[in-house]
Amino acid sequence: MKVSFTSGEFPITVKINGKELFFTISAAKELRMKLDDNIMKYVASEQAKQEDKKMANKKCEICGKNPATIPDRERIGRLINRVCSRCHALRLAGDLTQIKKLQEERRTLI
Ligand SMILES: [Zn+2]
Repeated sequence: MKVSFTSGEFPITVKINGKELFFTISAAKELRMKLDDNIMKYVASEQAKQEDKKMANKKCEICGKNPATIPDRERIGRLINRVCSRCHALRLAGDLTQIKKLQEERRTLI
C-alpha cells in the first residue's frame, strides 16, 4: 500500500494506491485511532509470537534439562508449559505413594 500526504491542510488529502482521499479532522482522528488499534494488535501479535518462540525452547523448571512440555499444576493463571513429562510423571508417582500411605493409615484406624 502506497500512502502519501498531498496536502497538510484540513481536509487532509491522502493518496492511497494512487487514489486520492479527503479527511476532515474527525475522519483523520478516526483513521489515526484505527491505525493505533492496528499497531497495538500488531505489537500484541508480535509479542505473542516471541513468547511462543521462548516457550518452544524453554527448559523444565524442575530438572532444567528436558524441554518444558506440560503446564505446572501448582501455578494458577495462564497455562504455560513449565515442566517436562518426566518430572510430571514423578509428581504423579509421588501422589500415588501419598494416596497409598493415607489408605494404609485409614485401614489401621478402622
Ligand atoms: Zn523436568
